[in-house]
Amino acid sequence: MKVILPSNKKLTKNLKTISFTNPKNVYIPLVVYNDRDVTPLVKKGDYVTKNMVIGKTKGNFRMPIFASVSGEVLGFEEKLYADGTHIKCVVIENDFKDALSEEDIVLKKLNEYSKEEFIDRLKESGIVGMGGSGFPSYIKYNCNDKIKTIIVNAVECEPYITADYTLLMEEAESILETVDALIEINQAENAIIAIKKGEEKLKEVINSFIGTYLNIKLVEVPNFYPMGWEKNLVKFITKKKYKKLPLEIGVVVSNVSTIYSMYEALKYGKPCVERLITFTGEGLNTPGNVYVRNGTLVKEVIEFIGGYTESDKNLIAGGPMMGHTVDEDLIISMDLNCVLVKDNEKNPKINPCLRCGKCEDVCPAKLSPVMIKDNVKNITFVRTLQPEKCIECGLCSFICPAKIPVREFVKEAKHSVCEVKK
Ligand code: SF4
Ligand code: SF4
Repeated sequence: MKVILPSNKKLTKNLKTISFTNPKNVYIPLVVYNDRDVTPLVKKGDYVTKNMVIGKTKGNFRMPIFASVSGEVLGFEEKLYADGTHIKCVVIENDFKDALSEEDIVLKKLNEYSKEEFIDRLKESGIVGMGGSGFPSYIKYNCNDKIKTIIVNAVECEPYITADYTLLMEEAESILETVDALIEINQAENAIIAIKKGEEKLKEVINSFIGTYLNIKLVEVPNFYPMGWEKNLVKFITKKKYKKLPLEIGVVVSNVSTIYSMYEALKYGKPCVERLITFTGEGLNTPGNVYVRNGTLVKEVIEFIGGYTESDKNLIAGGPMMGHTVDEDLIISMDLNCVLVKDNEKNPKINPCLRCGKCEDVCPAKLSPVMIKDNVKNITFVRTLQPEKCIECGLCSFICPAKIPVREFVKEAKHSVCEVKK
């Protein structure tokens, strides 16, 4: 069953971007993807320059973590992360100088990087999936398998969010230049820019630059949720299915914000410390798309753009479907694409399950959310229902006529099953 959601994108669509790049303090989260085993390379009282490496993950990825401002390290503090959990952060007091250290980075024209240099640059710049996954990008491209097609995911199918749309509208030329270089560096056959059907203005902008790039094609995809999910997108474009990774059929998918951060890393040697985020919802006086630095307190950004409409609000990190309920302690991270502020729904009435099966009908991962919900405490049985396949799209909760937060049960089962597997 295909679900079309109300878009609610008008609140921030086609507005000029805003920049809030001078936070008082930043709280740099010590994490890359799900790896929180990080060695901090600074201590209280140290002076750090902007873009300096202040930590490194110890696990499989070995990725650097950067200061997003210059200033003094005040110490370490726990803050709220985009996934709704608390995380250890390095606190830096901004001296507003943006002091940079001397660095020995060799810059080249985008298409002159060798594959090895490209992989190194992605890794050393801390580029991660900015559509929400936070997965290190260098791993996707560092493969022995042949990459035939690169898909740039600009579908942004979740309601309210317009950060990717806005970035593509404003930076289409740089993004296309990068995609063309990615084809050459990876010796791919072609690339596809995937956007939602009906985005006429965006189509016009992309088409005004795409002419000279013969191996890049613009593809419009149907407007249903979750069309931007990698499996749906790859299947629609290639007419092929894969089991675990799109690389099995020669495809790599990167989100459009990720491609832009690759551009900044390859062209200017900039690490991934800043991004465009949608601040939206009826609970904000002036919603907009805002450039913000890693580790900025969300509270500070909201004050800067005009504050809340009223004090009783519900903050969500991410969109309304996949996001997590949070509070004002939330910090900006590079895998966060949206902060949604809604009016507080006062205790929505949850009714008993009607056994209607609607949650099963809509589940894109072909799970039985109702069965998982009923058996969430029975780990032995629930693992046979494969909750680990849940992509946390939120459709089961959205469709449920009894207002049961079905996704939360499935998430609980998913975490229990994954913990047991570890
Ligand atoms: S949240 Fe998970 S269980 Fe619910 S519909 Fe999405 S994939 Fe299926
Ligand atoms: S949609 Fe809600 S009411 Fe219907 S079966 Fe699923 S959990 Fe029960």
